[in-house]
Amino acid sequence: MTRAFNFSAGPATLPEPVLLRAQEELLDYQGRGLSVMEMSHRSREFMAIAEGSEASLREILQVPDSYRVLFLQGGASLQFAAVPLNLRGDHQRADYINTGHWSKKAIAEAKRFVDVNVAASSEDDGFSSVPDPQRWQLDPAAAYVHIVSNETIGGVEYHFVPDTGGVPLVTDASSTILSRPMDVEAFGLIYAGAQKNLGPAGLCIVVVRDDLIARTKNDVPSMLDYAVQAENGSMYNTPATFAWYLTALVLDWVRDEGGLEEMAVRNRRKAQTLYTAIDESNFYASPVTPKDRSLTNVPFTLANDGLDALFLGEAESHQLLNLKGHRSVGGMRASLYNAVGQDAVDALVGFMRDFEARHG
Ligand SMILES: *Cc1c(COP(=O)(O)O)cnc(C)c1O
Repeated sequence: MTRAFNFSAGPATLPEPVLLRAQEELLDYQGRGLSVMEMSHRSREFMAIAEGSEASLREILQVPDSYRVLFLQGGASLQFAAVPLNLRGDHQRADYINTGHWSKKAIAEAKRFVDVNVAASSEDDGFSSVPDPQRWQLDPAAAYVHIVSNETIGGVEYHFVPDTGGVPLVTDASSTILSRPMDVEAFGLIYAGAQKNLGPAGLCIVVVRDDLIARTKNDVPSMLDYAVQAENGSMYNTPATFAWYLTALVLDWVRDEGGLEEMAVRNRRKAQTLYTAIDESNFYASPVTPKDRSLTNVPFTLANDGLDALFLGEAESHQLLNLKGHRSVGGMRASLYNAVGQDAVDALVGFMRDFEARHG
């Protein structure tokens, strides 16, 4: 068996030890004679997985006791609706910062439920930066301020936590969660689809402060109501048990590897390797303002886009997979999630240099 180097933006590569352990336990979980997929979510075994994963996430991310941790379905996209539905309370408006594709989707969905004030946008520079926080037109009466910590498609990342003057800060952290330490207390709510850095698709994690849960009114559908989900331990209905189990294994892996400090060191090194190769060449280019470049999703272009298909084809024959940029951006994109090793990035950079020497 050979495992390719997988630079997919999501669903993304998972740590090999996690897959091996899942394989080992697939038919017979801990001597019970059945798979995790086949057991009740209320069984002692599954409850232990659920409780253990919450404890692990709390420990790894240092989540204070005043926050609930929810393991929900519907992906990050369902949170685009759940956030305004739960947090609008008696407020009229919510502030959104527009940094690209996922911001726009969050804004479009929120508009169905609340007056959206786009307090800043980097649309004018083609979403190649985070708007200067000095110029955000925040509304002090807003229900919350929504940001996307890392634009997975555009490759633009916040390397600071904005000051919202006491208005709760909400972030879509789908592609940065667990990539480095995070000051949870600076946020009122953090949500993240699992299929980037946490596990397989089918699960979305929400970390929400207690006082914000208390805002929810009874016009919110039960499945979207944070209070209902919190009271029911994220088991108001049957949860995505197998995705949850795999996420529990990923959390164990992150902890065993040294936690978020260690992830941050590795991720900085991987990103630096790739950006250095891009910046040193006259053939590859990054479209993102250097200070706002994502450490996780690295879009880059070739000097001649007529060579894109050849680049992708040759990369694939070197076992370097899923480098095609999103259809809305073009070019290439390499996603460097926790489970992507330095060896993968070294192999990619080696291939890029060789390709440039032959075609540049
Ligand atoms: C992938 C992604 C989403 C969408 O996630 P789904 O789970 O497919 O709904 C939303 N926001 C960001 C930042 C993402 O990277």
